[in-house]
Amino acid sequence: MRKVKFHKGYSEVFDVNAETFKVITNETYPYKQISKKDGKISAYGICPMCDNTVTLLGIYRPIKNERSDSYARHAKEDIPGFDKFNEDDYLYCPYHRRRANYVIEVRRKDITEEDIKILNIARENFDRCIYLIKKATGLVISNKLAMEIVKNYMANCGYMVHDRTDKNIPWIMLNKMPVIKLINRLVVKNSPLYEMLNKDSQVRLKAENKDYYRILPKNEKEYCALSLVIGEYSFLVDQRDNLNEYINLIITKPKNGLYSEYKRKNIQLDVYSFNNMVHSQKETYRNKELLKIAEDIIKIRP
Ligand SMILES: [Zn+2]
Repeated sequence: MRKVKFHKGYSEVFDVNAETFKVITNETYPYKQISKKDGKISAYGICPMCDNTVTLLGIYRPIKNERSDSYARHAKEDIPGFDKFNEDDYLYCPYHRRRANYVIEVRRKDITEEDIKILNIARENFDRCIYLIKKATGLVISNKLAMEIVKNYMANCGYMVHDRTDKNIPWIMLNKMPVIKLINRLVVKNSPLYEMLNKDSQVRLKAENKDYYRILPKNEKEYCALSLVIGEYSFLVDQRDNLNEYINLIITKPKNGLYSEYKRKNIQLDVYSFNNMVHSQKETYRNKELLKIAEDIIKIRP
């Protein structure tokens, strides 16, 4: 992996490189210590996704193989000064699994402390989730739709699915979104959804202002019922060890009393954008109305 953190839990994530390591840790124990394995000075951190200890390579010794940049890998053993190796968490870590398609399934019956932590983050940062959902898709989210999103997230136990982490809360919400009728919705200019609908045979996009366009039927006299289905969340760790996350936007249209796929677009999600937003402490994107909605709906079950 190319990212690391130095505190357990929901903390800031950094690139793996020698300079950052020195600045952030001051080379203190346990981050810098003599490896029991080979007796050499070694650098350690924590996996941003599963909270297990990782060994940082390329910090104190050049990397021998063809990789030129520093990177981190799971230590898979107990390292002094860090929590014990948690094999279950490791086995579900995206950096270990490397690839998963459409595996958004609820994991267990009982809610765990980690699930509650995720719920708390979701509630306190719901406005940021909505901001990122809009940014990723281009769909302008009304408060009414935001309420639907959070209701679906709760009803589908999005905080308890296999692949949920504290970084992908907005993307799990996106994956759990209800089917959305597109007519009369607003879309952001030049966004993925805008590109899908621009110059379309069924709809036209009418400028509301310089950024937002309204989705209207091409022919006012004809009924148009395009819907947006969002899903098929997947992730892939590439050959350079970067984690990538994707989701599909699928537009459907009515066919024989049901619906058929009309258009599809795969979009890449920004893996650490949510974490960065939360830790930047910028207040620009805060929205009290959305936070109130989350406050009312995200309730932890006893
Ligand atoms: Zn991990």
